[in-house]
Formats: sequence, structure tokens, C-alpha cells
Amino acid sequence: MVLDVLLAQGELTWEDYQNVQVPGRALYTNARQLLDLVYAKGVDTCGIFFAALKQVLPEVQGAGFSSLSSCSNVEEKEETHGTSAQTLLTQRPSLIYKLQDCIDGALKALVQSGHFTSADFDPVQLPIYTPTQQARRLLDLVRSKGESAAAAVLQYIHQKQEAGSSLNEEKLTPPKEVLKYQKKLSSSVCAQSCFLSTYGGTSHMSLDDIYTEGQLELAHECVDVQGPLGLEDIVGTVGTVNEEADTVLVCGEAGSGKSTLLQRLHLLWARGAALQYYLLLFPFSCRRLNSEQRELSVQELLFQHCCWPDREQEEIFQFILDHPHLILFTFDGLDELKQSFSDEHRLCCPTQRAPVHILLFNLIQGSLLKGVRKVVTSRPEAVGPVLKKHLCKEVLLKGFSPNGIDCFVRKHHSDPTVAVKVLESLQANTALLGLCHSPVLCWIVSQCHKELLGCGEGSPQTITDVYLMILQHFFQRQSPPKSTVRLGWQQGHLETILHLGQLAFEGISTTCYIFSGADLEKCDVTEKDICMGFLTQSKDMSSSHSKCYEFLHVTMQCFFAALYIVLSSHTDRYAIPKLFELQELRDTGVSSMCFRSCLPSTDQEEQIVDSEHAVAETPNLQITATFVSGLLSQRHQSLWLHCCSTAMVEKKARQVARCLSKGMQKHFKSIPQPVQGEKKSMHAMPGFVWLIKCIYEMQESRIAKEAMSKLQVDHLKLTYCNIGPVECTALAYVLQHLRNAVGIQLDNNSVGDVGVEQLLPCMHICKSLYLRNNNITDEGIHKLIAKVIQCDNFQKIALFNNKLTDACTQHFSHLLKTRQDFLSLRLGNNNITEEGAKQLAEGLKSNHSLKHLGLWGNKIGDVGAEALASALENSDTLLWLSLVGNGVGSEGAYALANIIRNSTSLEELWLTENCITRAGVECLIEALEHNTHMKSVWLRNNDLSLEEVKEMAQRESRLTF
Ligand code: ADP
Repeated sequence: MVLDVLLAQGELTWEDYQNVQVPGRALYTNARQLLDLVYAKGVDTCGIFFAALKQVLPEVQGAGFSSLSSCSNVEEKEETHGTSAQTLLTQRPSLIYKLQDCIDGALKALVQSGHFTSADFDPVQLPIYTPTQQARRLLDLVRSKGESAAAAVLQYIHQKQEAGSSLNEEKLTPPKEVLKYQKKLSSSVCAQSCFLSTYGGTSHMSLDDIYTEGQLELAHECVDVQGPLGLEDIVGTVGTVNEEADTVLVCGEAGSGKSTLLQRLHLLWARGAALQYYLLLFPFSCRRLNSEQRELSVQELLFQHCCWPDREQEEIFQFILDHPHLILFTFDGLDELKQSFSDEHRLCCPTQRAPVHILLFNLIQGSLLKGVRKVVTSRPEAVGPVLKKHLCKEVLLKGFSPNGIDCFVRKHHSDPTVAVKVLESLQANTALLGLCHSPVLCWIVSQCHKELLGCGEGSPQTITDVYLMILQHFFQRQSPPKSTVRLGWQQGHLETILHLGQLAFEGISTTCYIFSGADLEKCDVTEKDICMGFLTQSKDMSSSHSKCYEFLHVTMQCFFAALYIVLSSHTDRYAIPKLFELQELRDTGVSSMCFRSCLPSTDQEEQIVDSEHAVAETPNLQITATFVSGLLSQRHQSLWLHCCSTAMVEKKARQVARCLSKGMQKHFKSIPQPVQGEKKSMHAMPGFVWLIKCIYEMQESRIAKEAMSKLQVDHLKLTYCNIGPVECTALAYVLQHLRNAVGIQLDNNSVGDVGVEQLLPCMHICKSLYLRNNNITDEGIHKLIAKVIQCDNFQKIALFNNKLTDACTQHFSHLLKTRQDFLSLRLGNNNITEEGAKQLAEGLKSNHSLKHLGLWGNKIGDVGAEALASALENSDTLLWLSLVGNGVGSEGAYALANIIRNSTSLEELWLTENCITRAGVECLIEALEHNTHMKSVWLRNNDLSLEEVKEMAQRESRLTF
């Protein structure tokens, strides 16, 4: 169908059509052919292709393309440089933001300038529209009136800003009662957010003292965002991909700092230090909303769950309805809600009562309180396409950067010499350093610094090691050391472990994270158990509930659940297989002990919950399974010697090993046979990385070896798999046992320099390494090259879009000089200048194997091109050279013509988006006259007039303009 659309629009010829649509050929080969063809035809055809795709695909599938096509549109628009009408398009989200409070003024200005009549007011200002919708209608209308109207509205906005009056000041002064309510709300928000718990209920740390910036990124590529995002950018318009939506999603793994980030935003707002545009901020925790059994209206939800207005509830709520753009909601932990997001039950009436999750889903979609800004946090697993449809943007929280770890550790220790020691011990153990990118683990490691510094050789390697360390730390903090020395700390506290373990396990099995006194009683959790510090008293804005508890962090709950699975003799024999198949564990515990207090009581309701909540549980089951693997690893089995029967532990360990092996087989079976002529490639299915992490936790090379012995592929694709340093450690641990060398594709993850270092142990089985877009700097490259230079299989590397500068080129140069079988070097979109190009040229001079060299999007200029040309002019191996977008002018082109003249191998030269003039192209044409093997020279977007392009294309058909 896409082909038909493109044919109908004249973008493809019949010949093209038949070349793509070859009867009997595999569909995906046709699809690839089509993509190549569209790509070769340039930006315009790509745009039309996306539009055709959107037209043809069902709505849900097509949604992902909107960002792609809109981004390329933006790029295209920006290239053709700004008319006012184009500015309206490219800066639309921020213009809407600026206009929403001064629609009246803008309309008047447009009437005064003669662009609008009063008849234009109505379609913009219909009372059913929210201010942002009005701003959108206004912009649409302005666009339809042409360039001069666009200029007028931009001028109006500009003048308002120049005058120093924030556009938003046009808003009404809020009524007194609203201001009073704001005061009450902000002091309550402030009180809720100024501390972090460190030991349950007993010790607190001020958020100001400990808060450390995490790494925030937009999930979608966005042309006008440079550098990292700040906290306020989360709420702002930057990176908007769907301007009709009001919900921002902050996505991150468990422990990446989502709740703490919201807590920081709340605190800054409550203190008047940020987000002051919003008059009222309502914070919600999905975890707490789970226990709301009543049906509520939005008004009841706001007032009962956040802050009760002492007077004039109706007036205050009406103010909220009338000024949605002044209101901000935050929903923490959507993944912890019992029900998965769905947009099936529509609710538009703010006074109608409904179950809380229905209210929440309608708020997120904007059917309720359209225009209110919402920030939702979730783990990635709970975010499906239905939710994505309703997001204005998605922000990824990727934990601490290496500097962040440093900063956090220093903040955590008031004694700087201790901080330095902790940091030194982290530098000496990169597996542990990798773990510390996760804030929750960084916190544990800092908290347990005494254990860490005292343990020398046996310093923690796995996540289980870290959690065992905190277990020991909490216990030893509480009990007199003598008794634990005699019994062993785990034995001395076995009862506590089992009580809390059962509580955690049953909570995980029923999606329950907040426990009432009755829940504790059912699992025999005593006051003494609570005092250990793993549980913390649950904070509740509405404070109407009796005392409730939750684990310090959800990962801690998973850890205790795992301890229970390992140590209890009450769980049934299918508990482990069920866990690894990610099935419900609900009936795996002793059923009489199982409590259902967190679930609705009737059978009918229970069935509904059953069908809806499975997705939300998976991540916790995965974390629990990872801990079970670690706790049953041989090196930890001695810990449980006197806690339970050795035979039982060994049996459970065998079960885990079997499950891991079975899980891997399932993945391998899913690999399709390669088409003739293509390599066998495995695309990581969901769960693959998790299985790899479980194998790593076991720390038994026998299991890793066995798992890898049956994997026979040429290429392992792990793109967009959320792979950070921790996952790299596990991958390297397992992949090093592969029998044959493979290509490892890790594009679009968060590997970073620490991750690169973690990958080194498996480089000997790596033929080609793809690390596009992974935050890698020269330092990571230094270590990588030092290793791969000794790895015979290593022949290709792709590092597009990292943070490389000239400082890395000496290492590549060394690699090129040393390795005469190296084939492909791609360094596009980094920061390499003429100096770097000169360094590379040094290596290239003495290399006789390289076939592909890609430097797209660097800054090598004429001087760099000359250096490369002189190194490559006699090459008899180089097939493909790309210097696209490098500021190369005609001087560079003269030099590159020498490669065309003398090289016996070069087939494609890419010089698109440079500043080559006619003289430079003449030189290339002249060189091509003596060259018959060269296939194409790409010259789109250089300094050439249309006539020149036309004329030169006729003279030399291998030039592509
Ligand atoms: P998530 O909500 O993603 O599971 P949390 O925000 O609960 O993660 O973080 C877990 C723990 O990690 C916190 O209790 C805190 O100790 C630490 N932490 C997380 N983010 C930060 C931060 N930005 N600065 C300091 N500590 C943090």
C-alpha cells in the first residue's frame, strides 16, 4: 500500500516499483529495498514516505512515526530558514505556552494590525476550549492567513517579552480563598518532601543535603535540545512531540530516582524556588491510591488525598476548573498501580464519581481537567503504546552520571576522608562502580561504607552482594555484636528475615506495597522486626489512615521476597519455576497464610484485577528472580548452612539453573533461519537481558558456558534495551563463553565509559562492535582500543553520536597502524576537527585493510580533508568514505579528487552537506573521467546553484545532487 501511495504521488517510477515488489521474494527484503530507495531519493521523498506510512498503518502503529516525521520536518524547515510562518511551526509548543495567557491581547493586536476581524474571535475563543487549545486554534488561524499575520503575532509575543512583563502576568489575581489554600497545600507538600528516609522511621536525611542531579534525556530525538535536560525542563515545553497532550512521562528503572526527583520538584515548588508558574501542585502516589477502595470524584480525589480546603471548597475547585493551565499534578509510580493503563472507560465530568484508577487514567488522557499539566513516573515495562498515545513527551531518567556518583558519595559523608576512601574503593571495583549508577545502590554502598572498606578481596560484585551487605549492615547496627558473632548474623536474625520475607513475598504476589497493622500481624512481623529499619512508616498526605508500613524501597521488598523463596520451607515446589516464567505467585505461598487485604473482596472484582494487573507485576518478579539466582549461587550457599536444610537449598539452586537454561533455549529457538546470503542475527527479545543478569548473579561460569554453548548466531542485536554499565558487566560475563565470534550491536543504550570497560572481557569474541549513541568519551575509547588491539577477531567499530573529540583519534590511529585486518571505522556525529583528522591520517597512511571510513557530522574542514586525502590517495582497500557535513570546501574537494584519480578501490564518496563550489566539483568531474570503478559521489546541499547542479549532473551521471 505504501508503494501504491508513493507511485500515485509520482515519487516512485514503475521501474522503482517493480524493483521493490519482486514476487516470491521475502517481504522484509522488499521492505529493505524500499527503504534504501526512499533514502537514496532524499529528504523530500523520506517525508512523503513517512506520511504514506502513517496513512496506511493503523493508528497505534503509526503513532511512533509521528515523532520521526515531525522531527525531519523540523530539520527541513530549519534548513530552509525562517519565515515567520515557519517559526510558527518550528516553535509551536513554546509559542502555545507563551500565548495561553494572553489570547485576548493577541486577538486584539491582530485585529488592530488588520489581519483578523472580530468574526475570527469565535472559532478561537469557544468557551469549551482550554487556554492551550485556544492558543492552538489561534496559531492555526494565523497560519492560514499567511506570512504577514504570522509576523504580527510573533511581534506581539516579542513585544510582551521585551516589555519585561511576563506574558503570564495577564492572568487574574486568584481569589483570597485560593491563595489561602495554596499556602496550606504548599506547606503540606513542603513537609512531605524535605526528608529522605534512611533507616525506617529512625533516621532522616535532608533532601537539600543529599539531592544529586540524575541524568535526564528525552526519549525522542529532538533537534532543538542540546545538552542534558534540567529539572524544570521536565514540566516545560521543550521536546514536546504531541502538543495536544498534557502528560509528561518520566521513565526509569526501579531505584533510578523517580520518586526522589518528584520529591525534589515538589520541594522546590513548595518553597517558591521553581515552577512558580503553577499556582497549585497536587502530588499523588499510585502506591497509595491503590488502597483507595471508594469511588471518588476528581474534587474528592484532590481534596481528600492531597490537602483539604478549610473553606470554600466549591470556589476553589471552580478556580481549578477555570484555570487548568495553572495547575500541576504529579503521579508517582504508575507501574505500581494495580491496574494497567487503559483508555477504554471515558469519563469527562469532574463531578462524577468513579474508581480511582479510572479517574487517574482520564486525567492522564486529558478527558478530565484538560489543560492541567501532569507528570507521571513509571518503570519502562508498564508503559505501553496506549499510554504513549496520550503523552506530550517522554523523559528518561538514567540514574547518576560518573560525576553524580562522586558528588553523591561526597554529600553522603560529612567526613571527606571517608568519602575519598569510598570513592577509591569504587574505582578499584568497576563492577560495583557500574552498580552505583543506580541511585538506590549508590545509597546502599555509601550507607555500608564500613562493611565495604573492611571487606578487601571479597568486595561486592553483584546486586545480590550489595543487598546482602545492607542486610548485614542493618542487623549489625541493631544487635549486640557478640550474639551475632556466635550465631552468624543471618542465623541470629532468621526469624526477622522470614517474617519480613513473607510480608514482602505476599506483597509482591498481590501487587501490595503498603502494609497495614493487620497485614504485619498475619506474617508475625513484630515491633523488633520493624525496628531493624527495613520498613518505614508510610507517609500519607491525607493522614486519615492508621499506621501503615512500606519497605524502604521496592527493590528491598523484592530482596526479602527472594530471601523467603530461598529460605522458607513453606513455599510450594513450583514457586521458582513460576517466578522464572513470570507467572503469578499468588497461590504459591501457604494459602492459609495468604492475605488478600489489599485486594477488592468480591470474586467479580477480583477477576477484573486479575486480568489487568499482570503487566505491572513483571518488573518486580524479574528483580525477585534476579535476587533468587544470586542468593542460591554457590558462593552464598554457605550463608544458609544453619538456617535451613542444605538439601533444600541445593535443590532450589538446581531448579534455578534449569530455569535459566530453559529460558535461554526459548530465546534461541525464536531466532529465525537467515535468508540466503544474510547473516544469522538474533534480536534480543524482552527478557533476554534479564536472563543474562540472572546468570551473572549466579557467578558460576559453568552455567554461563552452558547457556552460550547453544547460541549460534553471527550478530547479536541489543539496541534500545536499556543497557547500562550493570548490564554490560553481565553481558560480558556470559558472552565471553560464546563459541564463535559475533557482531555485538548495542546502539542506543546507556553504556558510557564504565560500561565500555565492563565489556572488555568479551571483546575476544567480538567481530564488530556497534555503540552508536551511548555517551562514550575519549576515556572509554582509550581503554577499549588498548584491549581490542589484541583481539584477533575484532574488525569493525561504529561510534556514531557519542562524545568523542580529537583526543580519541590517536588511539584509532594506533589501531590502524597495528592491525592490518581492520575493516571499518565509523565515527560520525562526534566532535572531531582537523587535528583529529590529521591524527587519523597518520594511522591510515600505514594501514592496508580499511574498507569503510565514516566521519559524517564532524568538523574536519578543508585541512582535515586534505590530510585524509593524502593518506588515502593510493589506497587499494577503501571502498566507502563519508565526509558528509564536515565544512569541506573546494580546497578539500581538490585534494579528495586525488583519491578518485589514484585509488584503485574507492567506490563511493559521500560529500553531501558541505560547502563545495563549482570549482571543486569540476575537479571531481575531471578526476572521474579517469576512473571507471567509482560508483557515486554524493554532493547534495553544497554551494551550487540549480543551474550548476543541472549542468554538472548531465556531464557526469555518477554525481548525485
Ligand atoms: P525510584 O522511584 O526510581 O524507584 P527512588 O527515588 O525511590 O527511586 O530512589 C531510591 C533511593 O535512591 C532514594 O531513597 C535515595 O536514597 C536515592 N536517590 C535517588 N535519587 C536520588 C537523587 N537524585 N539524589 C540523591 N539520592 C537519590
